[in-house]
Amino acid sequence: MSPDRKHLRGDCDNCFGLCCVALPFAASADFAIDKQSGQPCSNLRDDYRCGIHSKLRQQGFRGCTVYDCFGAGQKLSQHTFGGRSWRQEPQAAKLMFEVFPVMWHLQELLWYLTEAIEHPAALPIRTELQAASDETERLTGFDAESLLKLDFAAHRAEVNTLLLKTSELIRAKVPEPKSGSRTKKPLGRGADLMGAKLQKADLRGANLRGSYLIAADLRGADLRHADLIGADMRDTDLSGADLSESLFLTQVQLQAAKGNADTKLPPALSRPEHWSSKKPATS
Ligand code: SF4
Repeated sequence: MSPDRKHLRGDCDNCFGLCCVALPFAASADFAIDKQSGQPCSNLRDDYRCGIHSKLRQQGFRGCTVYDCFGAGQKLSQHTFGGRSWRQEPQAAKLMFEVFPVMWHLQELLWYLTEAIEHPAALPIRTELQAASDETERLTGFDAESLLKLDFAAHRAEVNTLLLKTSELIRAKVPEPKSGSRTKKPLGRGADLMGAKLQKADLRGANLRGSYLIAADLRGADLRHADLIGADMRDTDLSGADLSESLFLTQVQLQAAKGNADTKLPPALSRPEHWSSKKPATS
């Protein structure tokens, strides 16, 4: 993993289980129980660790395995609240849980910005990217009350403009795919590719921003330099696919997808434990 992005992944050892308390969930295929925001999950132990961590999927908590806080949990626990937990300071608990999503969004932006800064093709706008990253980092240092007052939408819009430019710079260097090697379905932001048969498709440099790839068959597909920011990849089959140079891919997307030992991943991301170790069937 890039050394600059290690701190942008959840570090449960340095967090007071904030996601397991702050976030609500409804009983469904992803969660075995209902839980309100601010209510500690019944599986959360006194040491802030999950009591069923090794068997979350078997016990009906698949949703917990497709979550990553981008480091928001440890930043709030150790920096914003100075190592004091919601159990030690119940009067501050409500504030901690309210500010958690704000920090999550800021940390997510830092994830994308760090990737963009590292990319050689983004050199023409690296100064602007670095300034946006520095500003985002500065915002994460605010106290909790100030974080809640942030005009996050305005900040995100500025960052998104830069990320879009980065994507265009990188994808402009990718050669056009051979005719018939992609899909006849329209691609582009928000494309509906749910259940699409894209096995072995040449999707190099494709714009898949915010696309719906739910249960799409991407076995053996080439997704190098494809922009996947915000793509919904629940149950997308990535077995044998090449994502080694995909843009703006997150661990959350991988956790929600299916894959195997032959799926090629970017160095900043890790292979989900639940993925099959079998070779892909791409016939
Ligand atoms: S099941 Fe475990 S990981 Fe999921 S919310 Fe509860 S304590 Fe957290």
